[in-house]
Amino acid sequence: MKEFKGLSGARGQALLPALVLSRAAIVPEKRETADPEGEIARFEAIRAAYAAELDALKEKTAKENGEEASAIMKAYAVIARDNFFFKKPMKQVKNEGVAADWAVAAERDKVCAKFAAMEDPYMKARADDIRNVCDELIRRLNGVSSAVEVQGDGPVILMAEDLTPEDTIRIDKSKLGGFITERGGVTSHAVILAKTLGIPAVVGCEGILSAARSGEQIYLNGDEGWAAVEPDGEMAARFAAADEAQKAMAERYAQAAAMPAVTRDGHRVQVCVNSGDSESARAFRPDRCDGIGLFRTEFLFMGQQDYPSEEFQYQAYRAVAEAAAGKEVIIRTLDIGGDKQLGYMDLPKESNPFLGYRAIRLCLDRKEIFLTQLRAILRASAHGNLKIMFPMIVTMEELREAKTLTAQAMAELDARGLPHAEHVPLGIMVETPAAVLLSDKLAKEAEFFSIGTNDLIQYTTATDRQNERVQYLYTPCNLSVLRAIHTVIRNGHKAGIPVGMCGEAASDERLLPLLLAMGLDEFSVVPAQAGKVKYMVQQADYAALSGLPDALWEQETVEDACRLLDQYAIR
Ligand code: PEP
Ligand code: MG
Repeated sequence: MKEFKGLSGARGQALLPALVLSRAAIVPEKRETADPEGEIARFEAIRAAYAAELDALKEKTAKENGEEASAIMKAYAVIARDNFFFKKPMKQVKNEGVAADWAVAAERDKVCAKFAAMEDPYMKARADDIRNVCDELIRRLNGVSSAVEVQGDGPVILMAEDLTPEDTIRIDKSKLGGFITERGGVTSHAVILAKTLGIPAVVGCEGILSAARSGEQIYLNGDEGWAAVEPDGEMAARFAAADEAQKAMAERYAQAAAMPAVTRDGHRVQVCVNSGDSESARAFRPDRCDGIGLFRTEFLFMGQQDYPSEEFQYQAYRAVAEAAAGKEVIIRTLDIGGDKQLGYMDLPKESNPFLGYRAIRLCLDRKEIFLTQLRAILRASAHGNLKIMFPMIVTMEELREAKTLTAQAMAELDARGLPHAEHVPLGIMVETPAAVLLSDKLAKEAEFFSIGTNDLIQYTTATDRQNERVQYLYTPCNLSVLRAIHTVIRNGHKAGIPVGMCGEAASDERLLPLLLAMGLDEFSVVPAQAGKVKYMVQQADYAALSGLPDALWEQETVEDACRLLDQYAIR
């Protein structure tokens, strides 16, 4: 038995056979081929088959997982079919008689080095796409493939160095019981997918891949962030006990999900879900929550060759409005920039992208993009209960201008004779210290607030949410963050508007009693967490929590705050 330490990606435990995804890149040797023409024909047949496979996958994905996912397959197929790209290495095979795998690898390295040297993160990401396609072709030239095929009925623990978006699409999710990756942070593709599917994950588990083989038993502890290969009997017994408790809790959460989120003494809150990718959209159950508290629209814009049209966006927003069956859907306008880039936008390079040209700043500057999106959302408002939310607001001017442009978009629809809801509530994300400190004023002109703790923690504590070295500072239990949250809730309520939270902290069990006591109206969480949050609300005694905020302000350190919150934990 061998244990490997990592980071907790998604909570829960599993003891299952491993499926080790071998993506070890093959490093081809420079060899000569006796039959260059035959070698080229072999390569072209492999390339055509791979491109056709990607096409089929694209179709399947578009049907099952939506446009974002299929766009990645489409991009891979475009690369696989790029005759211009593959002309050079094939010329080398013909003229110099080298093997195709070596020639493709050499061209891949040359082109990827050029892309990787570009500062634009989108272009850097394109280098990854080219590398992924070339690596798969090289593997196939050597008679292996990395396609993730789960043999048998599963479930398995999928183990990989990291997971590409292609992997997360290809995998048959019904056969997955957990993820372990050697690389990647707590916001990696694997973790997001694990949370959405409600299965455990450990990331940053260095060294485990070389110690495990497919089929071997793996114990994965997502609560504590470690895993063991071929666990001994004692560990297996420990897991069996934890598993039983886990299943009992899952059963309780499922029951809780079917009931409204009301505390034992009758205090009602809303528990909504976050959506913004195909997995969470499919996991959305309007009968298990109070609506969608955050619909991230970026995914409609990512993986496209150009801006999505008003009609394309309208169909997407209309589909979500209809799926919600009359329940609220908060559509957030485009939050691009920062770590999310779009190649076709041609954005200038910035030294501090998270402090730069992103979200509402970009939308107010490129008004046509914003107006197109607003018209699409407003048209969809005729089919459901939609609200619009603006991200990254730091001034009153931004809110006013966003509202003016929404009114303009509505007038444009009227001129075209297109229907929309008579009134669409307009709110803001409170995710910057500026918005917190201005929240008394903003609350008079916004119709609702939603606290975006993912960014609010980052900006309040000056801690990059993606930088692993400073993650110890990135915590909602910092008293400055908790004070900010309390300020926003109080200012919202003073002005008579509802205050929700759509950052990850909304499903943090340590914070839940405090957020209830502070009067948070809406918790918006990934779908797999909605049952747990409802359960904790239903177990809480609202009146008994009333002294918690004052007791918290007596504390001095993060540790003190955590200790106090622990005393109020609902288990
Ligand atoms: C947030 O910042 O808390 C949030 C929900 O938005 P995102 O994670 O998309 O920045
Ligand atoms: Mg944010």
